[in-house]
Amino acid sequence: MKILVINAGSSSLKYQLVEMSNESVIAKGLCERIGLDGRIVHQIGGEKIKYDVPFPSHQQAFEELVKLLTTGDKAVISDMSEIAAVGHRVVQGGDRFSDSALITEEMLSVLESITDLAPLHNPANIMAIRACMKVFSKGVPQVAVFDTSFHSSIPEKAFIYPIPYEMYEKHRIRRYGFHGTSHRYVSARVAELMGKPLSQLKVITCHLGNGSSVAAVDCGKSVDTTMGLTPLEGLGMGTRCGSIDPSIVTFLMDKEGLDTKGINDLMNKKSGYLGVSGLTNDMRDLEEAAEKGHARAALTLDILGYQLLKYIGGFAAAMGGVDAVVFTGGIGENSDIIRAKACEGLGFIGLTVDEKINNGLRSKEVDITTKDSKVKAWVVPTNEELVIARDTKEVAKLK
Ligand code: ADP
Repeated sequence: MKILVINAGSSSLKYQLVEMSNESVIAKGLCERIGLDGRIVHQIGGEKIKYDVPFPSHQQAFEELVKLLTTGDKAVISDMSEIAAVGHRVVQGGDRFSDSALITEEMLSVLESITDLAPLHNPANIMAIRACMKVFSKGVPQVAVFDTSFHSSIPEKAFIYPIPYEMYEKHRIRRYGFHGTSHRYVSARVAELMGKPLSQLKVITCHLGNGSSVAAVDCGKSVDTTMGLTPLEGLGMGTRCGSIDPSIVTFLMDKEGLDTKGINDLMNKKSGYLGVSGLTNDMRDLEEAAEKGHARAALTLDILGYQLLKYIGGFAAAMGGVDAVVFTGGIGENSDIIRAKACEGLGFIGLTVDEKINNGLRSKEVDITTKDSKVKAWVVPTNEELVIARDTKEVAKLK
């Protein structure tokens, strides 16, 4: 049985066709520049093929994708009917969806009513779902898997902000948290790797990519996380500022003459590693620049390492201990420098990184701590698509 996994943005659409019998990826790729001109970068096994195909809309991108999967010499299935279900990543499920669920018209209206909570992501997700439903027949179940669901177990004391409570009641302002599928996958996977039941472990998961968040996972349940109402809170990220003194917002609006769009752009697109370094939001380039003596690139790395250290220490305290810290996402999986900086000060809780193991380690499931380290730290490559495919199979009740 095959499941198509979709992760849509406003002008792009990532896809993966998964064979569920052995959970292998048959084909994957990216439809990009939707609405501009259109290009598909398609990958089968190790082979990458680029096609320039005009698609003015998401619907046409889906039509081209189905054509690519079913026809021509690169076809991987003979007919669309081989796709048993489609799973969609949806960024914000609000507090209505604590689990993945079958997509219905009613769900789409609820999602439309909360687009204010994720204006950068949800409109694109909804548009893509509607387009996909037009291309696939009604008999193909479509399932939504929310980034926020895994965090629905966070207790009130960690999700209510200390602002007037009516703001929560009126506008649903609270911590939702994101990257839920990734935190869920790596926390469960590290338990398997450690050979211990997840129900007995306290895990801190660090998903570090262009967007980054840390989560405290106690006995398999998220009990706190760094992202909040939106994916802007918490760690400084590629171009996002993360948590800053809220007064900076009004101060800069006054001093720099910024309107809400201007300040949003500054915080979402011009801050983070890019803002501090003045160079780039790309961690590889920052590491290289720091190595060559670029002071602000080095400062950017120090800030991220220090913030991670603080969140890990804080979440360990929140859970009353920690058994394992997990690093994932492009940076977490690949940057030995950031992993080392994050763990440098954690000797006091019993975590010691083995430099020989950590140095140069990339995208492999490995324990990077010394043998006698009481608290473990692992690199676990994430697999959000697999979580979406598994949930889709379960929600659609496919055998
Ligand atoms: P997204 O959040 O868009 O999925 P990724 O998880 O792919 O992002 O992470 C992208 C980040 O990972 C970039 O900052 C990139 O520089 C960083 N990264 C990728 N490979 C390496 C590497 N070898 N060393 C350090 N950083 C890396």
